[in-house]
Amino acid sequence: MGVPVARPFLGDEEMAAVAEVLRSRWVTQGPQVAAFEREFADYVGAKHACAVSSCTTALHLALRAVGVQPGDEVITVSHSFIATANSIRYCGATPVFVDIQPDTFNMDPARIEEVITERTRAILCVHQLGMPCDLKVILDIARRHSLPVVEDAACAIGSEILWGGRWEKIGKPHGDVACFSFHPRKLLTTGDGGMITTSNAEWDRQFRLWRQHGMSVPDTVRHGAREVIFESYPQLGYNYRLTDIQAAIGRVQLRRIPEVVARRRQQAQRYRDLLSDMPGLGLPAEPEWARSNWQSFCVRLPEGCDQRRVMQAMLDAGISTRRGVMCAHREPAYAQEPWSCGTGPGDCDCPPGTCARLRESERAQDRAIILPLFHEMTEAEQDAVVAALREACAA
Ligand SMILES: *Cc1c(COP(=O)(O)O)cnc(C)c1O
Repeated sequence: MGVPVARPFLGDEEMAAVAEVLRSRWVTQGPQVAAFEREFADYVGAKHACAVSSCTTALHLALRAVGVQPGDEVITVSHSFIATANSIRYCGATPVFVDIQPDTFNMDPARIEEVITERTRAILCVHQLGMPCDLKVILDIARRHSLPVVEDAACAIGSEILWGGRWEKIGKPHGDVACFSFHPRKLLTTGDGGMITTSNAEWDRQFRLWRQHGMSVPDTVRHGAREVIFESYPQLGYNYRLTDIQAAIGRVQLRRIPEVVARRRQQAQRYRDLLSDMPGLGLPAEPEWARSNWQSFCVRLPEGCDQRRVMQAMLDAGISTRRGVMCAHREPAYAQEPWSCGTGPGDCDCPPGTCARLRESERAQDRAIILPLFHEMTEAEQDAVVAALREACAA
């Protein structure tokens, strides 16, 4: 039995939606994008949602909007997909890395205050693998220091957090801006794509300007105009557009999200039930104020169980896995940069690829593996994963 680590859930409705856009001849920055934005904002409970080409470009614009400039520092985690840290560098700013909590794989809020300097301009937190990070504590700290908070919600569509006694969707946003990804590894895919949510109308206006080359007149306005309009380019912008073809897929995918999240929660619970008696295996923790969408189910291997060997044995049995989330500070692209592990740029004496202050991040990368989880996964496939993991760990 071959079991992939993930597989997007796409059906006839998505295909029909694409065909309809092609028939309409309006294939980018048109009515589908506008409708997708409205529906997405409604779903997460946000005032504004702006569609862009990826979560990476979303993060770049979000950081720019909250005022991150060259020479600034932005506090974030190394333990994330590299795009999180890269987006800070696109602004000419320096990522300052703090460690994670070992049980949730999320930013440890207790490590934030010690790295705040006069150059700190923002906090970029991550809802890693779909698990909400400790936003309440992070926001308390941020407000005390007048710092904006950008949420990397790439994996977190459908995830929820207990807020004022009510369950609210990640993306409201609870911080200042939240950024989503529609890459196929996430629960909602448009091939590639992203969304930026905020309550700030001025920032939303900025996002729309920047995503379209800084052009003053959006296509939707020019298209229906009865008078000739000349556009202008008041600011340096980018091509960070989402197409109508992608948006049409996204609208169908969004309608599926409640069902997809419900199923993943069942599947995650089933993994828990099947694996609970496995000695030494660490199961992911879900704080009582958080409800993950289980974008990934990441387990910590028992002591003495070699990660690469386990993954290879499972692959030999037809089961694809991935190692724990990467750490940006261990990659060559970060070896020569003034990234910091919590002492301010330049003050870190750790050799490239290791950091005394990011021990939990490094351990999570080295000791955890991501098990297959996707909408159409059968119980038999899940049983096969569990059997392969048990066997590989026993060997
Ligand atoms: C996937 C992911 C990204 C990047 O998203 P893209 O849409 O591929 O640019 C950023 N951050 C995290 C945490 C991710 O998982």
